[in-house]
Amino acid sequence: MRWARDVPLGPLVRYRIGGPAARLGRPRSIRDLAGALRDTDGLAHRMLGTGANVLVGDAGSRRPVLVLDGEFTSLRVDDEAIEARAAARLPVLAGAARRAGRTGFHFLEAVPGTVGGGLRMNAGSREDWLWDRVEWAEALTPAGELVRLRPEEAAPAYRRVNVPADWVFVRARFIATPGDARAIRDAHLGFRRRKVRDQVYELPSVGSTWKNPGPPHPPAWKIVDEVGMRGVRIGGARIAQRHANFIVNLGDAQAVDVLELMAETRRRAQARLGIRLEPEIHLWGFGRDELERVGAP
Ligand SMILES: Cc1cc2nc3c(=O)[nH]c(=O)nc-3n(C[C@H](O)[C@H](O)[C@H](O)COP(=O)(O)OP(=O)(O)OC[C@H]3O[C@@H](n4cnc5c(N)ncnc54)[C@H](O)[C@@H]3O)c2cc1C
Repeated sequence: MRWARDVPLGPLVRYRIGGPAARLGRPRSIRDLAGALRDTDGLAHRMLGTGANVLVGDAGSRRPVLVLDGEFTSLRVDDEAIEARAAARLPVLAGAARRAGRTGFHFLEAVPGTVGGGLRMNAGSREDWLWDRVEWAEALTPAGELVRLRPEEAAPAYRRVNVPADWVFVRARFIATPGDARAIRDAHLGFRRRKVRDQVYELPSVGSTWKNPGPPHPPAWKIVDEVGMRGVRIGGARIAQRHANFIVNLGDAQAVDVLELMAETRRRAQARLGIRLEPEIHLWGFGRDELERVGAP
């Protein structure tokens, strides 16, 4: 695998925002990936799926970025399960389950991203999470060891798993039990229809900006709304009218525009409601001060 230098990340992420990666590689096999992980000059790598959950800073990423390709895009349905490599798309997984009449994947309809990103984020809805369907997932460690994880070992929680940040998910086997084909199709189409109606698909975004803080607090969109931030615009970024937890790129947004909207929302939530919002999205290439302003770890 060859590294490319100074690769603009904007076109590779859903937000269409962000500066270049100092180095970017596209491993096409486990061997490629193991080699790339050995060859990062001591800098921790970053894995990029489709960037459906990542805000890249305007200065880009000094850390090497890896995008899985080649054999990592495959997906196979068998009698009781669906096996997918990490670069297979979540909508392809949802579509395969729907067409094959397998229960339990409707909540992945209209969720952009890859299986690898979905495993890292434990993607899902309020009721269903991707890790609920996992029989096992495999990750490659920076030392080149392939580790098979059962859900209880990955300890999935709300939008996170307890798996070291530098491990790369490469493959997963999902339990996919056959069910009533018509009921499955209706569940998928109904879920998709509601999601597309209530959320924002016509402009680039990275989905829900903030995690829901959980009881006794209201959901994040309501907090954003209550502190008067719905519809507020800074530069080329705006908090969506339709869904106040989405920040959209109106066309020429810079990362700093999104960051300022987040910082102001968080400041108001803390000052007026005493609630500390925590980002659901991952922020790359920002300074410590900037991360602290938005409550990012
Ligand atoms: C319109 C819209 C709707 C959305 N709806 C939902 C929703 O309903 N539910 C939900 O949970 N999310 C939702 N999201 C967010 C997003 O779809 C998910 O977080 C998705 O899992 C991101 O996948 P990705 O491949 O693009 O990951 P990226 O955004 O590229 O990466 C996300 C994180 O995963 C890491 N990562 C990526 N690949 C790997 C890998 N192979 N191994 C280890 N780590 C990896 C990255 O380093 C990063 O930390 C939505 C986003 C949009 C834009």
